[in-house]
Amino acid sequence: METRVRFAPSPTGALHIGGGHTALFNWLWARRTGGSFVLRIEDTDRDRSTREYEETIMSGMRWLGLDWDEGPDRGGAFGPYRQSERLSTYRENAEKLVAEGKAYREGDAILYRVLPGVELSFDDVVYGRIETMSDGLRERDSDALKDIVLIRSDGMPTYNYAVVIDDHFMNITHVIRGEDHISNTPKQLLLYGAFGWTPPLFAHLPMILGRDKKKLSKRHGATSVYEYRDLGYMPDSVFNFLANLGWSAGEDREIFTRQEAARLFELSRVTRKPAVFDPDKLNHINQEHLKRLDPGARLDLVKPFWTEAGLPVEKHDDAWLADALTLMGGRGQTARELASFSDYYLSFEPVKERWKAEDISDELRARLRSFFSALLSEPDWTPERLEARARSRVEEEGAKMKDYAMTLRYALTGMKVSPGIFEVAALLGRDEVRRRLEFYGFVQSSESDNRPKGA
Ligand code: GLU
Repeated sequence: METRVRFAPSPTGALHIGGGHTALFNWLWARRTGGSFVLRIEDTDRDRSTREYEETIMSGMRWLGLDWDEGPDRGGAFGPYRQSERLSTYRENAEKLVAEGKAYREGDAILYRVLPGVELSFDDVVYGRIETMSDGLRERDSDALKDIVLIRSDGMPTYNYAVVIDDHFMNITHVIRGEDHISNTPKQLLLYGAFGWTPPLFAHLPMILGRDKKKLSKRHGATSVYEYRDLGYMPDSVFNFLANLGWSAGEDREIFTRQEAARLFELSRVTRKPAVFDPDKLNHINQEHLKRLDPGARLDLVKPFWTEAGLPVEKHDDAWLADALTLMGGRGQTARELASFSDYYLSFEPVKERWKAEDISDELRARLRSFFSALLSEPDWTPERLEARARSRVEEEGAKMKDYAMTLRYALTGMKVSPGIFEVAALLGRDEVRRRLEFYGFVQSSESDNRPKGA
């Protein structure tokens, strides 16, 4: 039998981390088994559901790379895929139970009569055996069994009822969802029993906690999937990070692609232990994916953040910018961070803003002048030659390479750490290096002697 799974969000907000996690595990199982991944919109809460949220959820899923095979936007053999468009199905089936005496009307509502002594146990793929009896379905603070509302007086089905109808008629084989739904499962099993249908398999996913071991919430920072995009995280790494919450691709396999995860995923290896959302982990994973990107893709990712920072991206050639990012090596955990760490390639302005003249003594300044002039006179403008020239100069003077290199770094980048400074200088080019050193008064201006010395 073909595996069919579904993600069934209510369109009452953006795709948050928990929803993304659930969608992702469904996607993994569908892709692992060669089955189908269904997107079903549970929009029976008329006041809170909007088409805009539906769109946001779908684009969040697309951003994560979670494509679905059936859904409201693309149709399929088991539609419609919005609950609000399936009202007649809910009604017809509820009427059947009324006709059989299993359900009854109360005003405009239809309720299922819960009888005692019905076994509602199930084997959860993740949580194992869960034993319940219908006798547990009681009114709060009372001994009376609480009947299950199927259709509310406003004509809308309740969640526990609609989900059974839909999962059954959409031939869903595995219900993969958050562990907060374990407590709903007995009610749903009762309804499967009432109709005489075989229930799907249930696999509940562990809860996601913040680092303080409390349920993940806004207090812990960004909660919607899109916020991570805007912070400069790659979809590949958010995917990778979410997949590692409650599942592992194997020891020493922390970093993987979607395709690798889809090949290795096993529903039975999902753990029930609550998963901790650790932002440091996400940063680390993102950094690893950023490193693995080819230069062009990395450039595409970083460009918007340079632009956002007001840097003149269009003034530079793409291949040159890609080289600059390659030179940055593994620096920066997010595209946003990488963009900010590398601003000095695009413009001298932020460097000037960071520069503090008083950091350099007069005595050192005098020695630097002759050192920088020697450097600028190097005919062969390559990192190797620049470094060799610097070294021989340092030896002649009996000076420390660190003093010179650190100052050069600070003058060119405005930073205390950067890639090899002779490589940076080589890439910036002789003219730009001269221009920057002139600004600080480290070398005589080539054009005129009365240009402001800045420092
Ligand atoms: N609409 C429900 C939710 O958002 C779906 C739960 C389920 O997967 O059964 O939690």
